Amino acid sequence: MTSKLSLYQIVTQQFIHAADLMPLDPDVRKILAKPMNEVTVAFPVKLDSGHIEVFTGYRVQHSNVLGPFKGGLRYHPDVDIDEVRALATWMTWKTAVADIPMGGAKGGIQIDPGKYSTNELEHITRRFTYALGNNIGPDYDIPAPDVNTNAQIMAWMLDTYVSTIPPAERQRSYHVVTGKPIELGGSLGREKATGQGVVYVIELWARDHGVDLSKTSYIVQGFGNVGSWTARLMKPHGAKLLAAEDHTGSIANPDGIDADDLAAYVAKTRGVAGYPHAQKVDHETFLSTKADLFIPAALQGQITAETAPLLNVRAVFEGANGPTDLDGDRILAERGIELLPDILCNAGGVIVSYFEWLQNKRSEAWELEEVDGKLHKRMINAYARVRETARVYGNVHWRTAAYIVALQRLERVYKERGIFP
Ligand code: NAD
Repeated sequence: MTSKLSLYQIVTQQFIHAADLMPLDPDVRKILAKPMNEVTVAFPVKLDSGHIEVFTGYRVQHSNVLGPFKGGLRYHPDVDIDEVRALATWMTWKTAVADIPMGGAKGGIQIDPGKYSTNELEHITRRFTYALGNNIGPDYDIPAPDVNTNAQIMAWMLDTYVSTIPPAERQRSYHVVTGKPIELGGSLGREKATGQGVVYVIELWARDHGVDLSKTSYIVQGFGNVGSWTARLMKPHGAKLLAAEDHTGSIANPDGIDADDLAAYVAKTRGVAGYPHAQKVDHETFLSTKADLFIPAALQGQITAETAPLLNVRAVFEGANGPTDLDGDRILAERGIELLPDILCNAGGVIVSYFEWLQNKRSEAWELEEVDGKLHKRMINAYARVRETARVYGNVHWRTAAYIVALQRLERVYKERGIFP
């Protein structure tokens, strides 16, 4: 049983497994085994009540050997340095698999955002941005949305950041965050990008396996940005959404759930619970729903020694980061359930964030078709690289193959650059 491992221990075990198999250059291995920088800030905010609360925020920068640090910001009560370290490390592997010139970072605040007013969240975000100071920057470290953060939070970060730098630099610093509102330099297609990338991977997998998506069924865990967009973009394929789950509960309908209608309901009520066109089910019933595909798109640590035996699907597409722990991986493999890993499957978000960053740097605004077309091409290439690597290494699992793709790229760069001094 390995389920007692922390998230960072899990990412480390995944790394060791792939590095041993390659084998990865021992010196490069030492470098990549640790994040480059870790910033912890404590910052005070005056709440609506007039009282002061002190919050803890993190930014971990794992690697910038391929380009500026890049990764989301999470607002959640479970955020701690171990979680952020793990998520930052996954970002390094993801940008390398996606073949974009960016590194890996992640951040967050240990907070239950549901407990604060909009006004308080604005002040918390602004004060966090101020506390991070020059630890972020448009060509240095570029945050983006993650769990419980969105375009509005990015807009407050942008405004705070540019207000603290010299006036002449402000207009050319908008790429300090991505996932911004369109009016502030955000990219068309960014909001749906992670779900769009997941669906492109599902399409590629279906083509490889001769699966007709119009005859498939699936279940989704998490109906926030990633889960809802994945489901909405599966709808045109005619695939049937049989069950969905979020922090408010689990729902199912054997005749199918309309993803657009459910998304509109969740936008109003903040959760799937009580959705009138489905039945309430418990967590175990949700997990054991017989379907073709499972898309975990909520939090980490969901597919474990306890839950992996319950799944009744043919393949898992990881929309979330780290939804499967080491036991979960092993059990899925033993049960012949295919797994398409997070660092490939959910790379659409960071790829379109990269496009947003490029558009800002060039003062351009691309059409949606251009964004989607470029994303599609990159997802096809990333998928093909991972598939080919899995084959070359004797049909290893796709997670291991994706790690090898990432590590080979990082190893090449370190060998070319050498180590200073
Ligand atoms: P979000 O805040 O928009 O949605 C999170 C969802 O998870 C919500 O529906 C919430 O109710 C649900 N959830 C929370 N706790 C749960 C629980 N205990 N059981 C079931 N559901 C629960 O966040 P998001 O941006 O959609 O991120 C979801 C996952 O995707 C995270 O792992 C995130 O790191 C990953 N991810 C996000 C992006 C992005 O672009 N937003 C990109 C890559 C990966």
